[in-house]
Amino acid sequence: MTALAGVLGFPVAHSRSPAMQNAAFRALGLDWRYVKLPVPPERFEETVRALPSSGYRGANVTIPHKLAALQLADEASDAARAIGAANTLTFTDDGAIRADNTDAGGFIAALGEPVRGRSALVLGAGGAARAVVWALLDAGAGEVSVWNRTPARARELEGARAVELPEPAAIVVNATSVGLHDDDLSALPLGALGTPEIACDLVYRPSGQTPFAAWAAGTGAARVVDGLEVLVQQGALSFRIWTGREAPLDVMRGEISGRA
Ligand code: NAP
Repeated sequence: MTALAGVLGFPVAHSRSPAMQNAAFRALGLDWRYVKLPVPPERFEETVRALPSSGYRGANVTIPHKLAALQLADEASDAARAIGAANTLTFTDDGAIRADNTDAGGFIAALGEPVRGRSALVLGAGGAARAVVWALLDAGAGEVSVWNRTPARARELEGARAVELPEPAAIVVNATSVGLHDDDLSALPLGALGTPEIACDLVYRPSGQTPFAAWAAGTGAARVVDGLEVLVQQGALSFRIWTGREAPLDVMRGEISGRA
């Protein structure tokens, strides 16, 4: 029987995960299918509990369900528990629901370089920033600073130093949604940041460079990573959790960037 996986969100029509995951299943000859599962918050728990008996082996979880996904799980990874959110659910053979957060590991994998001992500045203090801050600290980053438009939210991120005037750091991460819909970066305090060694934008666009990635390239940053790579890497980790196989990263990258 075809094994099923899907992405639970509301809305979820925009999600690129089905194309990416289905391409990966095809490339490895796996009899799996990945579908969109648009579910409103009030139906989330009953839907998740019904999935295993309908042939589902796992699911990704996106806005607004990441907290609820963690809360209903029987088991959770350290990352999911510490971040307080899950983006991956696995339905185990013994009937348990396991929660993981692959946003954190996917972000570190996307950086593609060791993080240990390097200073980091995270812009933003929402759900994505939470995962990024935890991942940086877990990977042994040096000082992690957080700047946010609403300073009180930055002060809530454990283990990081909230700053109102950001200073240069080796790794600079845009975990705000600035740049998602227009090219105006003026809401971000980039002026004093000099040239980061690594700049990573969690924002992604269907095609072309994001404004933050363009800014970073303009500073001469040695490595510029965009949100599509983070999306691919978090999806690859979910794929491995469900199937036990290494994900075909190049197939996933090609599919998501329209090169397939
Ligand atoms: P969220 O929880 O809603 O947080 C949004 C963040 O952006 C907050 O820090 C918010 O600041 C800030 N922000 C929004 N508009 C702003 C503006 N005009 N000026 C300055 N700051 C602004 O969202 P999220 O889930 O953390 O997601 C953030 C971004 O990351 C989104 O674009 C999302 O698509 C992207 N993302 C990408 C991936 C990936 O795989 N590539 C994964 C997760 C998220 P306030 O606190 O002041 O409102």
